[in-house]
Amino acid sequence: MTNCENYRVASPQEVASATFSFHSQLLHIFTSTCTNCGQSHTASNLYDIYIARSGNGGNPIRNARPAANFRPGAALGTTTLKPRSQPICHLCVGTVNAPDPSHVTVFADEDAWRDTLRRKAADSAESAARKPRIPTQPSLSDL
Ligand SMILES: [Zn+2]
Repeated sequence: MTNCENYRVASPQEVASATFSFHSQLLHIFTSTCTNCGQSHTASNLYDIYIARSGNGGNPIRNARPAANFRPGAALGTTTLKPRSQPICHLCVGTVNAPDPSHVTVFADEDAWRDTLRRKAADSAESAARKPRIPTQPSLSDL
C-alpha cells in the first residue's frame, strides 16, 4: 500500500474539480469523555480515501469521504485520534436539568431531525421572501 499520509489534503476547490481514484480505507478510532457524568465512549468512523493529481502538477492530493461500505480487499489503515471531551452525552442527557423541559426536543431518529431542519430552512426562506423591506432613514451617527 502506498502511504497516503504523504499526500496533501485537497482543498474544496480541488475536490470539486479534480478526478479522484479510490485508494484505501481509513478507520478513525476515538474516545470521548463526558465532563457531566464522567463516562468514556469509544467509537469509530470509516472513511474512503481518494487520491488525485493536483491541478498544478504538484504532489498528489487526497480526500477522505465517509465510507458507506467496508471493502474487504482494499488497503486499510487505522488511527487512534486524541481523546476528546464533550459537555453531556447520550447516557446523561436525560438527567440534566434544563431550565425549561419544553425546550428539550427529542427526535425519534435522524430522519425526523433532518426533516425538521429542512422544514425550518424552507419556512425561513419563505418568511424572508415575504418580509417587507423597511426603508432605513439615516441617523445622526450616519452623517
Ligand atoms: Zn454523560
